[in-house]
Amino acid sequence: MIRSHLVRNSLTLSFFNRGLSSHAGRLEGKIALITGAASGIGKATASKFISNGAKVVLADVEEELGQATAKQLGPNATFIPCDVSNEANVSDAVDFALSLHRRLDIMYNNAGIACNTPPSILDLDLAIFDKVMNINVRGVVAGIKHASRVMIPQQSGSILCTASVTGVMGGLAQHTYSVSKVAVIGIVKSMASELCKYGIRVNCISPFAIPTPFSINEMCRFFPGTEKEKLEKMIFDLSALEGAVCETNDIANAALYLASDDAKYVSGHNLVVDGSFTCFKRLNFPLPDQNPS
Ligand code: NAD
Repeated sequence: MIRSHLVRNSLTLSFFNRGLSSHAGRLEGKIALITGAASGIGKATASKFISNGAKVVLADVEEELGQATAKQLGPNATFIPCDVSNEANVSDAVDFALSLHRRLDIMYNNAGIACNTPPSILDLDLAIFDKVMNINVRGVVAGIKHASRVMIPQQSGSILCTASVTGVMGGLAQHTYSVSKVAVIGIVKSMASELCKYGIRVNCISPFAIPTPFSINEMCRFFPGTEKEKLEKMIFDLSALEGAVCETNDIANAALYLASDDAKYVSGHNLVVDGSFTCFKRLNFPLPDQNPS
């Protein structure tokens, strides 16, 4: 009786294990290039990919910080300076990864900036709009273009991009940034529709607010002089999901899933990591069943 129970359990276990790759090395032997990898989400993802067996090229416009991050992440991390708004830089970063590792399995277009613009369309500064589009949109397109140049002959690859909850619903950021992230979600759908015939998957991740230098700098504009710890807490307090906050590691985990064979049939998808924030609008009065009395 005990034996048959054990056999049944081990059969169940082996059934489940067949469907999942080994969690120790879900990217064993894979080569990844991540833009905006000197800091925040890019850095956390590089670290996650390396601990899962990948070799990672970190591309970032911040040279000193990028070098220091690569050193911190160890021998499977290499840094190349790259401004994603410059197509030649992006092309060179892809060629660098290729010359170092002979292939490119994962391209993560993560670099992005926020912008200091007034909230109303009436005050929109189109010069700032162009600058943000150059990095957040054109940079992503350039990354997909040059990764595809390598991945099409390979007939395989996983391309990721960082979008945002601000691209999923309006009113969460000023127009320029929101529009740039809506565009990233659209780019993913458009590119996935072509690249599927070469076995290349294209997906994006839409994170909720996370305290990184990017968001802390934005918060500083609204609350000048406020300590960093207080700003971090203000961001965490926005969380909709009771008992949890959004952290860079949550995005790294989403990227790991999408980059790995666990997501082998997932393409053209926007993986929203927001603890349900964009699912509902909070009412400013309690519904009867929400008001225990
Ligand atoms: P971060 O500031 O920690 O990292 C961004 C990195 O991008 C920096 O290292 C920066 O040097 C680099 N970068 C900026 N411009 C670049 C350029 N032209 N070329 C190459 N690298 C450049 O911020 P983060 O929060 O990790 O941001 C990463 C991505 O996540 C961005 O696309 C951002 O829009 C997106 N995002 C962030 C949040 C958040 O709340 N932190 C939420 C949703 C989406």
